[in-house]
Amino acid sequence: MLSPVVVRPVASYEDTAALDTAVETVFAALPAERQPGPASRVLLKPNLLARHTPDKAVTTHPALLRAVVGALRRRGATDILLADSPGGLYNPARMRALYEGTGMAALAKELDIALYSDCKSVTVPGPQGGLVRQFELIEPVAQRDYIIDLPKLKTHVMTGASLSVKNLFGCIPGLKKAEWHTRFPDKERFGEMLADLYRTVKPALTILDGVVAMEGDGPSGGSPRPLGLVLGGADPFLVDLAACRVMGIEPARVPYLAAGIRQGLCPESFPMEALDGEAALLAPVPFRLPASYGAGDTDFARHVRGPLAWVLPRLERWAAPHPVVDRTKCIGCGRCAEICPRHTIELKGVARIRPENCIRCFCCHEMCPVQAIQVKRLPLFRHL
Ligand code: SF4
Ligand code: SF4
Repeated sequence: MLSPVVVRPVASYEDTAALDTAVETVFAALPAERQPGPASRVLLKPNLLARHTPDKAVTTHPALLRAVVGALRRRGATDILLADSPGGLYNPARMRALYEGTGMAALAKELDIALYSDCKSVTVPGPQGGLVRQFELIEPVAQRDYIIDLPKLKTHVMTGASLSVKNLFGCIPGLKKAEWHTRFPDKERFGEMLADLYRTVKPALTILDGVVAMEGDGPSGGSPRPLGLVLGGADPFLVDLAACRVMGIEPARVPYLAAGIRQGLCPESFPMEALDGEAALLAPVPFRLPASYGAGDTDFARHVRGPLAWVLPRLERWAAPHPVVDRTKCIGCGRCAEICPRHTIELKGVARIRPENCIRCFCCHEMCPVQAIQVKRLPLFRHL
């Protein structure tokens, strides 16, 4: 039987009654064996990609977390820990700054919940028959028995959408994320790695923050987009399929959902019989997708023969979406160079990308604090 996906309207984060109702309905729809209780050791896993205030719509909003903690406490759960690993360096000082900047420190104080900043990691085996034999994960993922995935609904320049399954990538400590980009530079296998990660982390439930989403060149360089929705359920793939429907995104173009479809973890599109809520809430809305959305990976040249087979890969460097530094915006902070899995960014006052080594993971774009890295494509190739 399909696990239900609860979709509820929540006009704003100030509407705490609507938020509480939406979150409570998600919990109530869980089967008995997935309900938390007094003995649960809960891990809240929001999206805290980088130090941005909640109004920027980069990170999960504290108001949603407040509603989740309320639902947990009504079920007797008291042992609640919040943890994430952002992009970039993963150390206690950075984590404390991240919690302060994203509103989590104030929330933890208000609600008396713990924030994880020990920054330890553990190695755990990957799923049986999967692509990945073992993952290095942040310690609480292995220690906690009730993990709640709390993503932000956003676009993503590499994967099209940053949703519930993608949010689990934050369970990989700091710069270790770059290793996975290096190991699986093509989107198809990167998506399979994320599906393996889901089967390893096994969140008990997902609640997706779509009250104010992000559109455009997400997950950090887009614009806030009021959407007025909270979506949730036990199955993150179904939650993500529902979100794709609203965003007007084809699930097969989102690498981790495409992997889920191939592996039989989810259907090709959202099954409306799984919806718990008004069908009208899932009607597609005008939603600005990333400039890179729908662009083929780096592989269209593989389908040609003859002299063109030599020319096209060189053209592709510019034809495919690629990162470009806006030198007038760059403040030379070095965050992009720190995270680049191919060490292909030099700092000479401002950042400079050597395009020949770039695998177009767009981690640099995600981590730039001043949006100085744009995703560009030659207009001639935009239809490809
Ligand atoms: S330059 Fe940017 S997009 Fe290219 S490999 Fe480095 S981080 Fe990824
Ligand atoms: S491009 Fe952005 S992240 Fe890179 S050095 Fe410049 S300001 Fe920092």
